[in-house]
This record gives sequence, C-alpha cells and structure tokens, in this order.
Amino acid sequence: MIIGCGALGCAAADLLARAGVGRLTLVDRDTVEWTNLQRQTLFDERDAAAGAPKAEAAARRLRAVNSSIVIEPIADDLAPDNAEAIVVPEPRPGVLLDCTDNFETRYLLNDAAVKHGIPLVYGGAVATGGVLMTVRPGAGPCLRCVFPDPPAPGTMPTCDSAGVLAPATAIVGALQAAEAMKILAGREEVLDPALRSFDLWSNSRQRLDLAHARRADCPCCGAGRYEFLQGRQRPEATVLCGRGSVQISPGRARALDLDALAERLRPQGPGRRAGSSLRQRLTHEPPDAGPIELTVFSDGRAIVSGTTDPARARGVYHRYIGA
Ligand SMILES: [Zn+2]
Repeated sequence: MIIGCGALGCAAADLLARAGVGRLTLVDRDTVEWTNLQRQTLFDERDAAAGAPKAEAAARRLRAVNSSIVIEPIADDLAPDNAEAIVVPEPRPGVLLDCTDNFETRYLLNDAAVKHGIPLVYGGAVATGGVLMTVRPGAGPCLRCVFPDPPAPGTMPTCDSAGVLAPATAIVGALQAAEAMKILAGREEVLDPALRSFDLWSNSRQRLDLAHARRADCPCCGAGRYEFLQGRQRPEATVLCGRGSVQISPGRARALDLDALAERLRPQGPGRRAGSSLRQRLTHEPPDAGPIELTVFSDGRAIVSGTTDPARARGVYHRYIGA
C-alpha cells in the first residue's frame, strides 16, 4: 500500500507495478495540478487539465502498464478516524510505503503500522535532498524512537516553500520500492537498519545506524500509546461562516517564527506582517472561490481565505506551514 501519490509515490508505484507486485493500493487526497508534472511521473497534461484525483489517475496509468495485477485507488484524506480502516484492510498489506509530504500523516502511519505490526518504509524529499528509514515493528525502532515529536509547523522547509529537485524524489521513491521488494520477498535480513539521507547538490550522503535506536520509553512502540491515531494532535479545521475561509487550529501549542516563515514564502510574493500575524497571498495556488490567502498567527493557528473546503484548507496549511 502506497500512501501519497506525489513524486515518491509515483516513482515507487511505477517500479512495483512493473515488478508484478500482485496487489497495489494507492491512497491520496489531492488532485493533479500543472506544477506536479515536473516530478510526478504517472501524470500527464490531461490529468492536470481535468484536475483528476491523483490516486485514480495513477491507477489508470498503472493498469495500462500491467493489467495482470490488482490496483485499488483510494481518494481520501488519512485522518485519525479513518486511518486504521484504510491502512489495515483485509487482506492486510504486506508493507506500507509512506510517500506523504506532511508530518501529521507520517506519525499517524507510524502509529497504525506499529499497532498492527505492518512494516513501514518512510521516505521524504525536499529541496535537493532525501531521507529514508524502514520501520520493522517489534524488530527495530519506529519513527518516534528516532524523532519523538513532529517538528513545530513552519520550522521545516516544504516542497512548496523550498521547492524540490525531481531527481531527489525519484531516488527516494526507488529506494522505497527496493525496501518493499525485500520485505515482500521475505528477505528482511537484507533491509538497511539505518536512517539514510543524501543531498544531490552538495553530493553528500549520511547513514545513521539505528540498530540500537529502539527506545523503551517510546510512547508508540514502547508504551503502546497511539497518540496520533487517538487524534490528540490533529489540527482542527473550522469553516468560518460568511467569510469564505477556514480556520486551522493546531492540535497542540506551537510557537511559529513568522519572520522565518515569511522568508520561506517570499517566492509567493510579498507577505504582510502585523503584530503576531503574517498575511500572505499564495500566488502559486490555483484559486478556489477566490484567490487563496493565508493568515498565520504565531501560535500556529491559521486562516485560509478564498475557500470553504476544510480538506483544501488543511492541504494548504500542510504544504506551506507544515504539520
Ligand atoms: Zn518507537
């Protein structure tokens, strides 16, 4: 099962479908945009013009590549209340590929994978670099053993604030597919028990050995507390009546560096600082009811104007501020 049909998901799904993986489930909440075509290799201009759901467009393309396997698209937003139903169906997936672009879903997936004992291959790419880690529940560290909490929103670059070099995404997707093939072939002994990262611009590579990184005090795999599945950390989306906007409240207190955020959002055009808020017109975002504008407060709360669609607003929040 591949969660996230962006650049990583496209690369991994293509390789696994061609390898003849018998059953592929593709999960994604987004639709294809023109700017995706730079790196999301399962989509073409027709998909972007139609605004096709990514999971469905990817399934259509992969069925043309290999008609002998079962491909199931799920166009849905993974959230605490539906995550286990989506990620742990019958028959159970042999491996989960985390190809998402936000920390909220990543930690949700880590909870679900550990709770149900399903291997998880985490991958990420932003700017010119990438990162990869395979979680084997019960046999090694989980994501929270290594990164106990998600980073505060606005502190990490995202693909929308920093851009992404397409070859970096292709490499991570290919590495994820290789890890999945090892797991599906029953060759877990050749998995790499490490956090691997690289940067294509500085030509650097790191490998952090995780053989002894499992923590007894990990809230997830140590204590069995699945805080993300329980929804305690989920940002709330509230439609603000009559304003054509949606308010996003983070699930926990956060302190945003608005100056740093303004700097990262500068490619969208000039932002306006007013006290503890930053207002930014998102010129790269396709308009909905009107142009999309983001007002961010230093406590992490944000108002997304120009839409009344909570899923759209949550997506904007994830992409520009981070989860
Ligand atoms: Zn853990």
